[in-house]
Amino acid sequence: MSTRLQIYNSLTRQKEVFEPLNPPFVGLYVCGPTVYNDVHLGNVRTFTSFDMIYRYLVYLGYKVRYVRNITDAGHLTNDRGEGVNRIESQSQLEQLEPMEIVQKYTVGFHDVCRLFNMHRPTIEPTATGHIVEQIEMAKTLINNGYAYESNGSVYFDVHAYNAANHQYGKLSGRNVDELMAGYRDLDGQDEKRHSIDFALWKKASPQHIMRWPSPWGEGFPGWHLECSVMSTKYLGKTFDIHGGGMDLKFPHHECEIAQNIGACETEPVRYWMHTNMLNFNGQKMSKSLGNSILPLELITGNHPLLDKGYSPMTVRLLFLQSHYSSESDITLKGLQDAEKGLRKLMNASNYLTSLVASGEIQEEKETAIQQLIGNCKEVMDDDFNTSKLIANLYEMASQINIFYNDGKKSPIHHETLETLRTTYNDFVFDVLGLLDENDNSNKETLDKVMHLVMDIRKSARENKDWGTSDKIRDALKDAKISLKDGKEGTTYEIE
Ligand code: AMP
Ligand code: ZN
Repeated sequence: MSTRLQIYNSLTRQKEVFEPLNPPFVGLYVCGPTVYNDVHLGNVRTFTSFDMIYRYLVYLGYKVRYVRNITDAGHLTNDRGEGVNRIESQSQLEQLEPMEIVQKYTVGFHDVCRLFNMHRPTIEPTATGHIVEQIEMAKTLINNGYAYESNGSVYFDVHAYNAANHQYGKLSGRNVDELMAGYRDLDGQDEKRHSIDFALWKKASPQHIMRWPSPWGEGFPGWHLECSVMSTKYLGKTFDIHGGGMDLKFPHHECEIAQNIGACETEPVRYWMHTNMLNFNGQKMSKSLGNSILPLELITGNHPLLDKGYSPMTVRLLFLQSHYSSESDITLKGLQDAEKGLRKLMNASNYLTSLVASGEIQEEKETAIQQLIGNCKEVMDDDFNTSKLIANLYEMASQINIFYNDGKKSPIHHETLETLRTTYNDFVFDVLGLLDENDNSNKETLDKVMHLVMDIRKSARENKDWGTSDKIRDALKDAKISLKDGKEGTTYEIE
């Protein structure tokens, strides 16, 4: 049975069949990190989820333009709703220029992405690279009557927007009046018409370093504006998928929708996707709560939770064992189980290479394997259910083990065995993005080459061709490989 991809849309709050606007092209925008400190495992979970989503779309044959931004400027709001510039605060703390902070943590983020085997986005735009476009969008919003200038800053006018029959709050299910009651004594309040209005552009105070000229004086853009600008610039006024962590639904994504509709007069996103949080001891992992684990702490095991270091692929598997929309808790038991699970998946992949079809078909095995093969796509088509996919792959691995231990013979059709091989490997490596961390393929290749070299040397010696024999030994010595001639033959050792 062939199924079609369904995606849970956070805006309509239901699963919908995925129908891209312009197939086979798909536009995917994911909010990237704010580069003011090291990413923690919670951030890694979110980016891993979208990496898996990107990979599966590619697996299905879509040509995906994957845009994930770097937030390297912007007026941000902290957990208390106050305006802070995190990059500048950090630059004071570390005694570095703001752009040195940006560079340092962008490089660190990329290193982490590589470590966890994430594909690069196809476009990775920065907020500072799109100041002109942000000013343009703020001007358009003023012209359209959805924004106003006040004391060198520009604010989005939520009341004017809602008065024009739009619905600020529709994504997060919030009510404007209730929101208003919650906002008091916060940053920029006296400049705003209403407390709920949010900044599109902020006037820079004299000590503010990151500043750009604008029609309203020197300042810097509001955080929400960059994503509206960069998503529409690279994916169009309406595009397929917009993603981010659940904590970005409000205010960030709510504001993005308002800005896009206000400026472009069209609903920007077909499918809004939100990934759930990684918890630690039942609480959202976050730097400000002081309960975060950094990737380096995970690998070295240098963290009070950990009994030893765990590999990035173990954690990648642990994350993907939960559906992206469910909370996930990081526990020692979870890590230990994922470590074993990873080994099982990788062993089965290695065993698969040596399996042959026995020629004697057991019908119930044939049916069971075909079912397991079909399940992979079916569960992934159901809103990327990696949790069920991994359970199914474990089941496949168990069957592969049975065949392997049964003289490496599988009682299924040759074609089914071939499909099993490709499906299993496609889903383990291409879709889930796991890697075999004990990959011996280089070792195997070296082994083959060395046996060939040693055979040539043996023949040369038998023919008393000492020149060739010495040449081989010297060249290997240069490559730090030494040969040992013994009674049983010659062996090699890497120094
Ligand atoms: P930030 O740099 O704080 O904007 O976060 C980057 C991304 O990581 C956002 O999409 C957040 O939603 C996400 N994120 C932050 N904390 C967590 C967490 N504990 N679990 C999962 N995702 C998170
Ligand atoms: Zn964003």
